[in-house]
Amino acid sequence: MGLENSTITTDFDYDLFVIGAGSGGVRAARMAAGMGARVAIAEDRYMGGTCVNVGCVPKKLYVYASEFGKSFKDSEGFGWTVREASFNWSILRDNKKEEILRLNNIYERLLEAPGAEIIHGRARVLSPQHVEVNGSRFSTERILIATGTWPYVPEFPGSEFMLTSNEIFDLEQFPERLLIIGGGYIATEFAGVFNGLGSEVTQLYRGELFMRGFDDDIRGFLADEIRKSGVDLRFGSQVRAIHSAGDAFRVELDGGGEVDADAILCATGRRPHVADLNIECTKVKFSKEGFIRVNEHFQTDEPSIYALGDLIGGAQLTPVALAQGMAFAKTQFSQQQASVDYEYIPSAVFSQPNVGTVGFTENEARERFGAVTVYRSEFKPMKHTLSGREERSLMKLIVEDTNKRVVGVHMVGPDAGEIVQGMAIALRCGATKNDFDRTVGVHPTSAEEFVTMRESVKN
Ligand code: NDP
Repeated sequence: MGLENSTITTDFDYDLFVIGAGSGGVRAARMAAGMGARVAIAEDRYMGGTCVNVGCVPKKLYVYASEFGKSFKDSEGFGWTVREASFNWSILRDNKKEEILRLNNIYERLLEAPGAEIIHGRARVLSPQHVEVNGSRFSTERILIATGTWPYVPEFPGSEFMLTSNEIFDLEQFPERLLIIGGGYIATEFAGVFNGLGSEVTQLYRGELFMRGFDDDIRGFLADEIRKSGVDLRFGSQVRAIHSAGDAFRVELDGGGEVDADAILCATGRRPHVADLNIECTKVKFSKEGFIRVNEHFQTDEPSIYALGDLIGGAQLTPVALAQGMAFAKTQFSQQQASVDYEYIPSAVFSQPNVGTVGFTENEARERFGAVTVYRSEFKPMKHTLSGREERSLMKLIVEDTNKRVVGVHMVGPDAGEIVQGMAIALRCGATKNDFDRTVGVHPTSAEEFVTMRESVKN
């Protein structure tokens, strides 16, 4: 598909009508408005979208909350005595709400400052250049669909009793026993959060090894660490039915067995949030995986309609949506052809311990580059020599043999998400193993392991 509609005209109410004020939509709207475009943005739920309201931000706050229990215990080996630590769910939940409200307001101001018009309500596409919100009809040169994704909930008897990540943050009652279904980012992060806060957590994954898509060593190592931390992590396990039992639930598993739980979190992936958008009235098409199909400039099969963020598939990550929003605005409104480079996108799973990763897994690298050399280091973090905690860390480098470029960096351990950000810059710059080797370490840290790995583990 070619790029069309790249000039601003005045025959429409707006130059750009953005549907959805999440990470990608807000970034595109404010950048476009800043470049002089007449922009409206419609949002029917909350400013900031999934990330700010029911995703990254509250999740990370809850991860912090959940780590204190372990830290109180760790501190004893360092001479501290912590008496009667107890956790109050409603304090955490309500403090989180206040913080999110503050962020919602910041997002409003970020949009208003450059002159984007915020329309509160659910938008419906009427035609390739018309949108309706709350009964009012608007014409626009371009429509940008940035409505994100929505939790996918498989159907089986009793599946209506399950919660999703949309509800779990605001539970009235703290669940003493939580069952989590899924083996991806959300399931694994919440297993750590609720385990740390004091729930008895069972996590069920349908396949042989969870965290599909991550490096196999990382997946196996993380599973061991999570089990050590007290989560009942089961593989090859599927739910057949859920029965309500008073205030709780009895969950029947395929192949026999039951689990009792006070709450059940379904974290089985997310799908494009396009219900009631009425894009069927346009030529917008979906990929076979169910995501909106776009070209490199985010243009759909309907030339005046664009889409970006989670609902176009690929890496469903806030920084990716932000980069897309920026590239879209630049291309459309500043006469620059900007695109997003999807190579070496780092990501972190805020599991306990954390996972940080950038580049190719070992299997992907072997497939893509042929011969690779792998460096691996497993150790007890220094802090746990005194804390007595049994947690271990794993670090892994994957080097392409022909030119010695480091093409994969993977880690399980404290602060892996922080550490991998810097590694991503090195990989983007094409750093070789020799560059890593001649870089002086920061001592004593875990991160220095990445520059001191000398012995390869297998070829
Ligand atoms: P994921 O795709 O990561 O994981 C979905 C999990 O559900 C997989 O383990 C999948 O199994 C399993 N599953 C799918 N369908 C079924 C089913 N019918 N029955 C049982 N299990 C099933 O999705 P999430 O919902 O965890 O997260 C959505 C996206 O949000 C992620 O892709 C990620 O990009 C983003 N995210 C990022 C975070 C971060 O950056 N830290 C944090 C949270 C979310 P299988 O592998 O067998 O298909």
